[in-house]
Amino acid sequence: MTRQTTTRHAEVILCAKEVVHTEIGFASQGAETCVAIAHGRIIAVGGSEVLDAWRGPDTQVHEYGQNATILPGLVDGHAHPVWGSESTGGRLAMSGLTTLDEVRERLAEAVENTPSDEWITGHDFDLNVYPGEPNGRVFGEWFAGRKISLMTRDAHALIVSPAAVTALGLTGNETFADASVIVADADGPTGWVVELQAMDLVLGRYPQQSLEAQAAYLFAALHTFAANGLTGVHALDFHDPSEQLFEMLEAAGELPVKVRCSPLVPADSSPEDWQQIADLVGRGGRRWRVEGVKFMLDGTADNGTAWFDAPDSLGENHAALWRSTDAYREAVRFFTERDIPTATHAIGDGAVRFVLDVVEAVGHAPSAPHRIEHIESIPDELLERFAALGVVAGLQPTHATRLIEPDQSDGWSRRIGPERVAHGWRVRDLLDHGADVVLSSDWPIGVGDPRTSLADAQLRRPVDQPGRALTQPNQRINATEAYRAMTVAPAIAAGVAHELGRVAVGYRADLAVFAENPLRLDPEAQAGNPVLATYLDGQRIELP
Ligand SMILES: [Zn+2]
Repeated sequence: MTRQTTTRHAEVILCAKEVVHTEIGFASQGAETCVAIAHGRIIAVGGSEVLDAWRGPDTQVHEYGQNATILPGLVDGHAHPVWGSESTGGRLAMSGLTTLDEVRERLAEAVENTPSDEWITGHDFDLNVYPGEPNGRVFGEWFAGRKISLMTRDAHALIVSPAAVTALGLTGNETFADASVIVADADGPTGWVVELQAMDLVLGRYPQQSLEAQAAYLFAALHTFAANGLTGVHALDFHDPSEQLFEMLEAAGELPVKVRCSPLVPADSSPEDWQQIADLVGRGGRRWRVEGVKFMLDGTADNGTAWFDAPDSLGENHAALWRSTDAYREAVRFFTERDIPTATHAIGDGAVRFVLDVVEAVGHAPSAPHRIEHIESIPDELLERFAALGVVAGLQPTHATRLIEPDQSDGWSRRIGPERVAHGWRVRDLLDHGADVVLSSDWPIGVGDPRTSLADAQLRRPVDQPGRALTQPNQRINATEAYRAMTVAPAIAAGVAHELGRVAVGYRADLAVFAENPLRLDPEAQAGNPVLATYLDGQRIELP
């Protein structure tokens, strides 16, 4: 009758109290639910009869008791694991400092512990500590002669000390192909270094970390992601030495999360550059792969470099980073014709509209939809165009809840004004208009733990700050919508929704096991919901 073959046995069977099928937000009933896996894919989902039917002599059975719940593994749709681990590993964290006095205190410790000719480099620096325009001269007043460089919280600017300005030979007369600027006044550079090309002048002179050190920082960051329930990360960058680091890690073992890398197509780059970038696509190893490309059509509202329809209160934030937006359109066309989907950083309404127009003109790559990242403030009229055009919307909940102040005293809010603030991070409205919404961290700019992003998105305030007023409270979403935005939606964005993002037969067994079903918990409890295990293609990841 039926032939007995090894494929009739599962390699692994997971059993827990519930399984969440995120597609429909349905948690199955029953005392125990099991997922059987063979060859990296789910071969059965059901009750204890799955054990009877699929258990063979070599089958591993992983029982998760109590209220444990099996979900599709979470995927962070926008993060920067390589430069995030490089720019935070071994550097001074300026996180949470809200006054110049606190900044001085934090720096004083570092100054004391660092030889006087060495750089002090930090990250996550909040420009709202300055009552007026940011500048690095205060560092010189506090610590004369010390080379200090702090990356801002949005990672789009550096504040450098006068000694660093001198060491770098900055003049303020530098010119750039993008909207970069070395801010200067009558006395020369103030120490405010804005946007990527200008920042590269400074970052290129930072003391080099060894590749071994960078690989160790990256490995630690990826392990933390896995421990927080992530099975995948969309890395919206791929630059030197990303490839080398991934290869080093895979030579030594396995990555604890899958990484989908999309290299940046620089502003105002040429068709020759595009071809070189297209040639990177398809490279990869066992758990990392180059797919898709990233564009930056504008900068950030805080730095005045976002592209809004109307200028901000300082007369800025009204232009694209690409000096030729026609060239941007042609670049999107170039990649689309080669079946390479694009993700474009577009913060202001002008930038978002332009990307939508370009997709309308150019169409999609066959393998995956184009995507817009950030979408920090848009008017009503743009909401319906996402679903109509099939453009995926990528938003970062913790930017909404943690980078701006509810009283609108921060730079982002003061610049763009109350009307556009009220139209900030419209997750609810985009979902209501049928858009596929991917929620992500933008780590290291946002909080890397996906449970924090998911909780903040439901609350519209930091989950760990119960007393704080809400930002755009009408944009709250529910738990099912939130978890869908880090499971099903990123699979749609990557063109793999037919095999990833659900717990269903035939799907890849990238899974996360939580101590409790998050869809039954309030957001505060979701943020502290322990991750019991993650699986990649059915293999349990050893969590630290
Ligand atoms: Zn980013």
